[in-house]
Amino acid sequence: MSGENTFEVLEKIFVQKKKKDISEIAGYTIKYGNIVDDGQIIDEVLVSYFKAPRSYTKENMCEINSHGGIVIVKKILDLCIKNGANLAEPGEFTKRAFMNGRIDLSQAESVIDIINAKSDKEAKEGIKQLEGYLSNRIKSVKADLMDIITNIEVSIDYPEYETPQLSTKELTDKINEISLGLKRMEESFENGKIIKEGIKTVIIGKPNVGKSSLLNAILKEERAIVTEYEGTTRDTIEEFVNVKGVPLKLVDTAGIRNAENEVEKIGIEKSKKMARNADLIICIVDASRELDNEDIEILKLANSKKCILVLNKTDLKAKLNEKSKYINNFKNIIKISAIKSEGIEDLYNKIAELFNLNEISLDNEIIITNERHKNLIQMAIKNLNEANQTLKDGLPIDFVEISLKNSLVNLGSITGEEASEEIINEIFARFCLGK
Ligand code: GDP
Repeated sequence: MSGENTFEVLEKIFVQKKKKDISEIAGYTIKYGNIVDDGQIIDEVLVSYFKAPRSYTKENMCEINSHGGIVIVKKILDLCIKNGANLAEPGEFTKRAFMNGRIDLSQAESVIDIINAKSDKEAKEGIKQLEGYLSNRIKSVKADLMDIITNIEVSIDYPEYETPQLSTKELTDKINEISLGLKRMEESFENGKIIKEGIKTVIIGKPNVGKSSLLNAILKEERAIVTEYEGTTRDTIEEFVNVKGVPLKLVDTAGIRNAENEVEKIGIEKSKKMARNADLIICIVDASRELDNEDIEILKLANSKKCILVLNKTDLKAKLNEKSKYINNFKNIIKISAIKSEGIEDLYNKIAELFNLNEISLDNEIIITNERHKNLIQMAIKNLNEANQTLKDGLPIDFVEISLKNSLVNLGSITGEEASEEIINEIFARFCLGK
């Protein structure tokens, strides 16, 4: 519970073993006792006390730790509500933390990211954002921008002052410098997107080359499968696996796995469709056979994008002519035995190399993982460019100032001081209940 009357509600349902008045209980204390309804003990619990402003929401808060299970937890919840508490909206705790100024908007958003993280790197990036890395960077960019604006304002309002005014060249340089820094942040979104959404990966190949065996080998090895959910169409399932800390989103795994009979097995048409919107194509051929026309059709599909050719069944006697031009077209070739789980690590290393995953170093760099942030940064850059164009065109300095101020507003929307109520509500609606 959070809010001014937290302890009053608590008092009505919690009987402490060693009774102390709330005025005597310090924040960050845990008390032992029973949750009681009409004299009847509901559960034996521990209650943590947080006193405003030193809590997650900056309000009075308590957390009741019961034995868990559904019935008891629901009973305690109902009891709180019966005694004056309201049920929290999704994200309401974090929203209060934001409204009360404990965290800014980008930090609140990082809470969702941390909860939903599908990989180490994503979680780590979320924590960094929660710690305020992004907020601080934005703040510092805003301060630089504010410096320029102040300088312009002084020159407009007090032209008689002998304040050192920036020349057009100095202004342009300063604006460019800010713009360049923002550009770098914007570019980091490419990696951010990978970290957040995963590399959309498809496994293609004609029937019986070992697609489902490879999928199983990957899933078996990476026990850290996070989600398996139905995609947009009914027969697609996407599965996430972690490769070197970054999620691969394996698309359409249902089609691969459930293809038990020959007719249903994934053929060329389906492969074409799958390959079309993938970030990574893993194309498999059976190395214990010669290439046939069907293989060749599929090999042709895979050449335009980031793709890896996997020669499977290396445990069998090799029959494949590796010098074939269709094979030689591929820059990235990995040999595996899906059945024996051999070569899977080589495949991972190749993937990591292709996507520069090893270079996504999270420790010293800010990575934009949120599309809303990226869009706002782009708008801020656009406004800076406009300011520079205005300068170049020799238009009055007031116009430059307008563009700079717009840029400032864009940046302010990232951290929330300039975000509209509508946007704020939309962001918190994405939370799960009670966070
Ligand atoms: P898919 O139709 O491409 O999904 O192919 P499957 O994964 O169902 O494999 C077809 C057949 O090839 C099955 O009988 C597998 O056991 C076999 N197979 C798959 N990978 C290997 C491998 O690495 N070595 C051997 N010897 N057999 C394999």
